[in-house]
Amino acid sequence: MDALEILSNLDNVFPYFQPIFSADEQLIIAYEVLGRYISEGNIISLGPFFQDQGIPDEYKFEVDMLIVRKALDKAVDLEEEVSIFFNRSVDLLMYESGEPFLNELLQYEKKGLSLKRIVLEISIQNGQGETLHQFEHLLHYYRTYGIKIALTNIGSTGHFERIIKLEPDILKISLEALRSTATGVNFHDVLFTLSLLARKIGSTLLFEQIEMSYQLQFAWKNGGHYYQGFYLQPPAGEFLTRDFLKSRLKEKFHDFISYEKRKIEAFFLTTKHFQAKVQEILMKNKRLEYEELLHVISKELDKAAFRMYICNEDGFQTSANFFKEQHGWVKQDEYKDKNWSWRPYFLANIIKMRDEQKGILSDLYRDIESGEPIRTFSYPINAHEYLFIDIAYDYLFEHDQLL
Ligand code: CA
Repeated sequence: MDALEILSNLDNVFPYFQPIFSADEQLIIAYEVLGRYISEGNIISLGPFFQDQGIPDEYKFEVDMLIVRKALDKAVDLEEEVSIFFNRSVDLLMYESGEPFLNELLQYEKKGLSLKRIVLEISIQNGQGETLHQFEHLLHYYRTYGIKIALTNIGSTGHFERIIKLEPDILKISLEALRSTATGVNFHDVLFTLSLLARKIGSTLLFEQIEMSYQLQFAWKNGGHYYQGFYLQPPAGEFLTRDFLKSRLKEKFHDFISYEKRKIEAFFLTTKHFQAKVQEILMKNKRLEYEELLHVISKELDKAAFRMYICNEDGFQTSANFFKEQHGWVKQDEYKDKNWSWRPYFLANIIKMRDEQKGILSDLYRDIESGEPIRTFSYPINAHEYLFIDIAYDYLFEHDQLL
């Protein structure tokens, strides 16, 4: 795209708006402003113009300010509950110390547009000493006016320290990676971590680039409060009524909820199944030594389990491991006396079992040794000891509502 053509035809520059929806009310809560240019009847994105390192910042700033003004001219008529998201690169944000942009916003505040409705979309930056410091300082200054910060382009790894330091109001996460099933599994784990982080630091999760139903379902299931993407609504030149997608979103949620409830019911049924089975075996084999007992259980649960052992309430293993190899179950004495109290949820689960005198089926997690997704069923076998049965992936796969 020719930068000079754009600069000499500024009348052809205008904003597009892509709505952002909320999960709780199923209403439009904001629009992201996107730069567009009309050339010989074709509407093209100004994204490449803004990303082009060869175009001087003052040109970009001039075009950007025009889009900001045109967007805000329209936005003053919007309902007060609707926010406006602007994409800010570091260069755009830092241009002339950020003063002209802020002054522009303040003009619109006089016209009744509260700056609390302005959200700046910022990419997380790699550390660059002084610039980074000034950048963070500027963000802090903007926030004193009520302007909000949404962090975007959060990489798949690291950056946690930077995210925590910036305390963004919103974490904006693209679901584009979810389109390929190859990266899907790891991406799920990363997202789970991000959703925990968001919860800890009080950020709202916004999922963008939702282009298919299952991506919306994923966003809903993973703590997404806000949604954006072509599947919901592509960018356009005009605003929409806030509730124009409400009934469709409600229908989608109804499907997601039914599906999830079925999975949770399956989870409880399976817990009860293992509970009854183990109880029955224990009743019949009261006098057996642990290793004989594990031998009996391994026979009874041969199809479901691949590893079992007994621990005391401090997490020290009081039996050997019984482990299913290709040709049958083997006893692994070297596991005796190992301690598992350091594992996530271990002690909490022990206390829960002791308190309720009931077994627990764990969440899905990756086995350290096999790398496969598994679950563990644990059960209090007496006042001080607990039986752990690792459920094989193949069994969970056959009962796919457990995956
Ligand atoms: Ca954006």
